[in-house]
Amino acid sequence: MGYDLATVLCHLGHVATSLQLATTGATRRSVKSAVDSGLIRHSAKGVFSCTHLDQPTVTALQVGGRVDCLTRLSQLGIWSGIARPGLHLRLRPHHHQRRLEPGAALHWSRAVREWGPVFEVSPFDAVLQALTCLEDVDALACLESALFKKFISDDDLGELIDAAPDRLRKILSLIDRGAQSGFETFSRVGFIRDGFRVETQFYVPGAGHVDMLVNGCVGIETDGEEWHGADRFLPDRTKDREVERHGIRTLRLARPHIFDTWTTTLETVHRMVRDAEDAAS
Ligand SMILES: [Zn+2]
Ligand SMILES: [Zn+2]
Repeated sequence: MGYDLATVLCHLGHVATSLQLATTGATRRSVKSAVDSGLIRHSAKGVFSCTHLDQPTVTALQVGGRVDCLTRLSQLGIWSGIARPGLHLRLRPHHHQRRLEPGAALHWSRAVREWGPVFEVSPFDAVLQALTCLEDVDALACLESALFKKFISDDDLGELIDAAPDRLRKILSLIDRGAQSGFETFSRVGFIRDGFRVETQFYVPGAGHVDMLVNGCVGIETDGEEWHGADRFLPDRTKDREVERHGIRTLRLARPHIFDTWTTTLETVHRMVRDAEDAAS
């Protein structure tokens, strides 16, 4: 019986009220026994959820808010800043909540888009709020990453840029619809700000698309934000070899090269570009 209730809950959108459960035929006793045996959770007064909801979502249910902004994005691996964000929740107007963890960011913005699940805001609203909470390149990386992960559509992107805070106008004008990760966004903007010309998703026969081509002569690959481990090692080296075979010097950047030792990375790319240009002349 308990197993069935957990499945029923998943079908109801992972969360249901006791009334909703009753209409599916669940008795109070079967609900209690499923909670007691840990198959479902009693998340808030009269509200039950399946066990795979994460902590931010459970907190949202408990306080009657919705997972919002950077928290919602980070749940899906979308760029939400270099550090793991704290809890960002959307509350109803006039909703006061004192039981939240210290440092939680509370938002009261009006929802622009309807969204069925009661424990989270729509993708459009989550990204729009994130643009308010993020600065500069982080905001651009968030938009590009949300588009790449198909969390928002191409049409949404245009609307979000229009609705973004004025302070982001200049950085958002650098939007690249082909960018695949926050690491790529940060290094691309860093190169542009240092005066380099950058082409993105440059195609090399036999190698596929190189993340960036700087000044028409140096290839840049950025490692993924998620750790792929051994399964990426060989394909990445094969790609590097194929790109070099076409006469394009290539540099592969990992997180510390972009966020901790960027000056050295810039020096390296300047040197590589100079060498490639000298060799061509
Ligand atoms: Zn579920
Ligand atoms: Zn926020």
